[in-house]
Amino acid sequence: MEKIVSLCKRRGFIFQSSEIYGGLNGLWDYGPLGVELKRNLKNYWWRVMVHERDDVVGMDGSILMNRAVWKASGHEETFSDPMVDCRSCKARLRADQVIDKKGVRQCPNCGGKDLTEPRAFNLMFKTYVGATEDESSMTYLRPETAQAIFVQFKTVLEVSRKKLPFGIAQVGKAFRNEINPRNFTFRAREFEQMELEYFCRAEEGMLLLDYWLKERLKFYERIGISRGKLHVREVPEEERAFYSKANYDIEYDFPFGLQELEGVAYRTDYDLSQHQKASGKSLEYFDEETKQKFIPHVVEPSAGVDRTVLALICEAYAEDQAPDEKGKMETRVVLRFHPRMAPIKCGIFPLLKNNAQLVEKAKEIVDLLRPHMYVFYDESGAIGRRYRRQDEIGTPFGVTVDFETLGEKDATLRNTVTLRDRDSMKQRRVAIGELAGTLLADIT
Ligand code: ATP
Repeated sequence: MEKIVSLCKRRGFIFQSSEIYGGLNGLWDYGPLGVELKRNLKNYWWRVMVHERDDVVGMDGSILMNRAVWKASGHEETFSDPMVDCRSCKARLRADQVIDKKGVRQCPNCGGKDLTEPRAFNLMFKTYVGATEDESSMTYLRPETAQAIFVQFKTVLEVSRKKLPFGIAQVGKAFRNEINPRNFTFRAREFEQMELEYFCRAEEGMLLLDYWLKERLKFYERIGISRGKLHVREVPEEERAFYSKANYDIEYDFPFGLQELEGVAYRTDYDLSQHQKASGKSLEYFDEETKQKFIPHVVEPSAGVDRTVLALICEAYAEDQAPDEKGKMETRVVLRFHPRMAPIKCGIFPLLKNNAQLVEKAKEIVDLLRPHMYVFYDESGAIGRRYRRQDEIGTPFGVTVDFETLGEKDATLRNTVTLRDRDSMKQRRVAIGELAGTLLADIT
């Protein structure tokens, strides 16, 4: 993890928030490359979950909502982790992190045994809406995006004219005042979720839960996370919310252990029923064929953007051997991102920066590829060094404009370039006119 955290900072993926003031625990900023990676992930999730399907539509709800939403959903009452304070080292711990040595509770931080009893700790951040700061103006920053979908269920159903089963997808920020933010961005206090609420009839719930688990596993493979590193955990009844009939966690084998990436939960009709009861507004679905009215059930695949970004970086990180400029083998750090996820798709290099023709041709290629993908032009330093810089940030392709491109050595090679593959480091010649098509086949 140390190597990964330091690479992330050095190359502009992820920084500590408000760093010049000493940071703020559990909060992170994404730099120029991190933001690209995150966007590629969110856009691809949207493409697979919304655009490639007839049965899902999207929405974008507000972060602040009427406090009544959080009362009805049960978050105000119950969205808390039991917490324990260590009186010796003052650490604040989640009760489930306390070590139990033959019935004696021990602080995992300092080994101290003087611990408080577990107390509830509400994870929602409070805030006030409007000029006065009192109970009546209080609400919370949302701890999950799902509730906006539930309270707009009826409106979205009407405008989209969908029939069951159908889903509503949303990507957005969520906030949890985690007691113990840790493992880099894995447990943060501000993060993003990609959630789908898939509404269905009660009798379809269990089947659809398994369907969505399979779909979601396919998704991870399509972004380059190997199946071997993923683990499906069936959440036992005692760990599930009382209304949940079944629940899977998709876990990833992070360097700090197997940890949850995504939850795929069968939430029954709990959320819609609660909001119908509390708001007094019907959230029922009318089945035109059977003429029945009922509250749909829901299956929810809920993934974390930041956790998936971290998994992508961990999965991609590799060290291998590559020749330096003099042909001597040296250790190469390379991020083997799937081309779909890579922040920059192609590096474009004139062999020499002081040759006007080479530079001009390389810039023409930049203009040719830019409408299709994010590319990076680099003319400084030896070509091997330029390749290595791109390897380290996971750019899958490099295009070099050389004298053969100008047709100086062999007229048949005019207007061809060297296309280098990041992983195999193999090079081949490709006609400039075929570049966009060749690269697009891999990155879309
Ligand atoms: P955990 O048990 O790790 O706290 P959770 O079961 O509470 O997670 P859910 O409420 O199911 O998480 O949220 C769905 C997804 O949102 C999680 O699978 C995870 O990817 C993401 N997520 C939840 N909490 C955090 C957090 N503090 N930081 C980053 N991502 C988070």
